[in-house]
Amino acid sequence: MANSEFEYVRKHEQWDALAPDNWIVVRIDGRGFSKFSKRYDFQKPNDRRAVDLMNAAAVEVVKQFTDIVIAYGQSDEFSFVFHEDTTLFDRRAQKVSTTIAATFSVEYAMQWPLFFPDSPLTRPYPTFDGRCVVYPKTRILRDYLSWRQADCHINNLYNTTFWSMVLKGEMSGTEAELALKGTVSSDKNEILFSRFGINYNKEPEIWKKGNVIYRDLSGDESLSSTTTTTTTPEVTQPPPNDEDDEKEYAKVQQQHLSLKQKKIQVP
Ligand code: ATP
Ligand code: ATP
Ligand code: MG
Ligand code: MG
Ligand code: MG
Ligand code: MG
Ligand code: MG
Repeated sequence: MANSEFEYVRKHEQWDALAPDNWIVVRIDGRGFSKFSKRYDFQKPNDRRAVDLMNAAAVEVVKQFTDIVIAYGQSDEFSFVFHEDTTLFDRRAQKVSTTIAATFSVEYAMQWPLFFPDSPLTRPYPTFDGRCVVYPKTRILRDYLSWRQADCHINNLYNTTFWSMVLKGEMSGTEAELALKGTVSSDKNEILFSRFGINYNKEPEIWKKGNVIYRDLSGDESLSSTTTTTTTPEVTQPPPNDEDDEKEYAKVQQQHLSLKQKKIQVP
């Protein structure tokens, strides 16, 4: 065989199949979206067009990969949960994560004009990285989703307060950042209510809780997305970024994130 003298290089490849009987989560995350969101004037703290585009791209990924059972998204990230029995790409981690990240990136860029008709995309185009994480038990999988939802809640409370101070309180970004240093969630709720008349609990669910995509098996096999997750409030303790976060996570652990949700049929 003409190729045989070179065949040995194949052995340098790492076989990276993920353990069987584990749920596989692929989390994709936008590259440099803090900057990207400024470049395209995303409304702060939350731009509806941007989240609708994330959901639209994610729906296409879920449609293409039938072993995905549920997906959870917030900010510039989405977590796709593959069934524990999936044999996609022989469960090879790099094949799975790169394919999902690539599929999502292409969908995001191709669907961009539908959501941002007045701002054409220019280089550098948006891309998403991807990673695989395996969870051996549904309990841990649920805690994973609760963790991402807690992250959504904490970031949103911070961002809502921060941007109120900047946009309505006429503070500079640096001043607002300094004023919020060391505050816990009750402080932020109080600032929002007393200074800006905002009752955080009444903020839209979509910003507080993120988005879920699931297969609606009851009806016509189309996909549905809702604005809440069905996870319970038990949250695993993630590695906290700093002391403030640690306190916030402990709080969220005790909270019950209610399950009221609005069903949106995706055509
Ligand atoms: P990295 O490349 O490390 O992920 P990053 O800048 O993307 O860097 P993230 O922690 O992923 O950092 O943060 C994503 C950022 O995207 C948020 O801080 C937020 O500013 C912005 N963003 C994402 N979605 C929206 C949205 N719907 N509306 C407004 N801003 C958004
Ligand atoms: P996988 O998803 O496993 O990679 P695949 O169908 O992409 O499956 P490859 O081994 O990557 O399998 O083969 C790529 C195929 O793409 C080739 O077999 C060939 O038919 C086609 N192809 C790629 N480039 C060209 C080209 N320039 N002209 C014609 N055909 C091409
Ligand atoms: Mg980050
Ligand atoms: Mg990012
Ligand atoms: Mg992110
Ligand atoms: Mg190929
Ligand atoms: Mg090939």
